[in-house]
Amino acid sequence: MEDYASGAPLRSVRVDGRDEGASNDGPVLRGVNMPLDALFGAVEQEWQEQALCAETDPEAFFPDKGGSTREAKRICQACGVRDECLEYALEHDERFGIWGGLSERERRRLKKQLG
Ligand code: SF4
Repeated sequence: MEDYASGAPLRSVRVDGRDEGASNDGPVLRGVNMPLDALFGAVEQEWQEQALCAETDPEAFFPDKGGSTREAKRICQACGVRDECLEYALEHDERFGIWGGLSERERRRLKKQLG
């Protein structure tokens, strides 16, 4: 398998835990048969599949300036992947909308507090 951007082979791991790649200089994940990039992507998507907002009106999470965020925050309170969502938003510097129950301004404040 090749990385189409660089032409370099993607690192992959066989089910028996042996590395199929050309080098063996990184961690080997036993029992996983997919490139690490795909694995991380799958883990990232896993929480998104449980997002409560996906079952509701997405517009509530992206209100117009000055619009109410109450309904979106209420939904976030009941969401089982709130922490993952907030972490994702902070890591990816999401600028708009409600993520993990926090508005853009609240996330900016939290980020400052965290340093
Ligand atoms: S915490 Fe809120 S914005 Fe994040 S996935 Fe859950 S419902 Fe959606």
